[in-house]
Amino acid sequence: MTMNELRYQVDLLTAKNQKLSVQEKMYRLVCETSYNAFLYYSFEKSEIRLLGKWDSFFNFRIRDWKDLGRLYEMVDEPYVDPLREVLFLEKKQRQDAVTECMLRDRRAWLEFRARVYYDKDGIPQDKIICISDITKFKQQNEELTYMAYYDSLTGLFNRNYFVRLLSEYVRRAQEEREIVSVLLIDIDDFRKVNDGLGIIVGDELVQQVGSFLKEMSCEDIIVCHLNSDIYCMAIYNPTGQKTVNGVHERIQERMRRPFLLSGGQEINITVSIGVAEYPESASNALELIGCAEIVMYKSKDMGKNTIQYFDTPILNEFLQNVQIENQLKDAVHSRSFELYYQPQYYAGNRQLRGMEALIRWRDGSGRMVSPAVFIPIAEQNGAIVSIGRWVMEEGIRQFAKWRHMQEESLVLSINVSAIQYMKDGFVDELMQLLSTYQVHPQEVELEITESVLIEDFDKVTAKLRALRGFGIRVSLDDFGTGFSSLSYLKKLPIDTLKVDKSFIDTVLSDSATRVITESIISMVRTLGLETIAEGVEQEQQYKYLHAIGCDVIQGYYFGRPLPVQEMEALLEKMA
Ligand code: C2E
Ligand code: MG
Ligand code: MG
Repeated sequence: MTMNELRYQVDLLTAKNQKLSVQEKMYRLVCETSYNAFLYYSFEKSEIRLLGKWDSFFNFRIRDWKDLGRLYEMVDEPYVDPLREVLFLEKKQRQDAVTECMLRDRRAWLEFRARVYYDKDGIPQDKIICISDITKFKQQNEELTYMAYYDSLTGLFNRNYFVRLLSEYVRRAQEEREIVSVLLIDIDDFRKVNDGLGIIVGDELVQQVGSFLKEMSCEDIIVCHLNSDIYCMAIYNPTGQKTVNGVHERIQERMRRPFLLSGGQEINITVSIGVAEYPESASNALELIGCAEIVMYKSKDMGKNTIQYFDTPILNEFLQNVQIENQLKDAVHSRSFELYYQPQYYAGNRQLRGMEALIRWRDGSGRMVSPAVFIPIAEQNGAIVSIGRWVMEEGIRQFAKWRHMQEESLVLSINVSAIQYMKDGFVDELMQLLSTYQVHPQEVELEITESVLIEDFDKVTAKLRALRGFGIRVSLDDFGTGFSSLSYLKKLPIDTLKVDKSFIDTVLSDSATRVITESIISMVRTLGLETIAEGVEQEQQYKYLHAIGCDVIQGYYFGRPLPVQEMEALLEKMA
């Protein structure tokens, strides 16, 4: 080699070295500014190098694969094997592998990410393992997971996650031919707590009931906070202590003691529970919850603090009510209502006093639906307002045609629902109808029920006085079925009291009923009110009622409710 050639080679090498050290510096900088620790291994040289933040991660160094034991010691037991797999990924001829490990002291999470570079014959050449601290990321993730699965108020599962778990129960139950019970639990009169003591107290109560229910959760029992004051529980394969009965007993036992709130209040509550079961009631999670909900409301209707099981008659009743509700919406427009009239007679001279208008409805399929069934539904969905308006107008219009057929003046009784009665403008509307059809206010009697009295008492009585000021009569219907008390009758400005059919039914056979009926009638008479007995079916009943001083008799014995033509025929015959 000539001198020139030699110099050329040296220059070339220096240049290469310079380039290399620039690169090396660059890599070192990258490693050092990264937040990660790196472990590099060269298979060819069997050499390990530690780079990056190794020393801030670990208080030991690794020179040899034997030292890896130190890493395994650091991580929590369940993560040791997965970590080993990642660190020796070339044994499985893999190129990349990753695992997350929690440290034994549970204070941090580390991620180990490994990559092996192979030559063209598949022989491993280099391995790099990157270790990062993912604790923060994990915590955020946990919070998100918590929000996705749990209800923040009670710490119980939230609705969505509960539905997923319940679906899993149902899937398993199908495989294992087991049963899943679903309980919908609702705090009775929760609104009173919320309205009376405020939503903060309401929330605390919901929390406390939630943590009580949570105590029952285990592998086969899951509980969620569905919303507001409603919880849902599912029991997989209910047996032993873990049955609906067992749970119900525990709940009842707890409800006997008050809940103590942080503000010092002691609240006594009861709950209503609806129960549905897979496979009997429904075949999937949402349907099960729906069925349990239907019967939970049923148990509310039955006076709360009860448990109600889903069965076919209840489902049918529910479906029927839904159907009725849908059809009721346009029943007024489609003229599918009709009024029947039931005659009322004076007990003494058997003369006609007047008639009660009773609504009749044929639903879409032409079936007669009892007002006892559809009126409560119409009251719930508001249809009662337009139905009630129609009844008033139709009744008064018809009555105007009849009132001249008799010498004595007659009374038309119209049933008025509480909602209709409480509406502003009710009195004006009625007065308007009377003047349109030229009917005297004294000829009309409104039948209200005790349910009206749940509303603001002063407002109710003020309206009664206004009505009576115009001369309109008012009677209290179904007396004896509600929270009736003779003492408040004194405060009610009414004209007539209708003793409910349930008294008349047993008045002859049951001496207690007899005593009550007699005292009602004598008390009412001393108040100067008129009494009407409803549902009188037998001569004996009539005679007895007459004897004890009942003024008016209404019932099948004297006459059933009649369609217009028949009522008209009756009036003609009497004239
Ligand atoms: P109510 O006002 O107490 O009417 C008396 C009910 O007893 C009527 O039932 C009548 O047909 C029935 N009844 C009368 N005498 C006898 C009897 O001797 N034996 C038997 N077994 N039953 C008798 P209906 O017509 O089915 O009405 C049921 C309830 O529906 C009514 O009870 C009333 O609360 C309500 N209702 C009826 N029409 C209207 C209406 O136009 N508006 C409102 N808001 N409610 C109405
Ligand atoms: Mg009535
Ligand atoms: Mg009645």
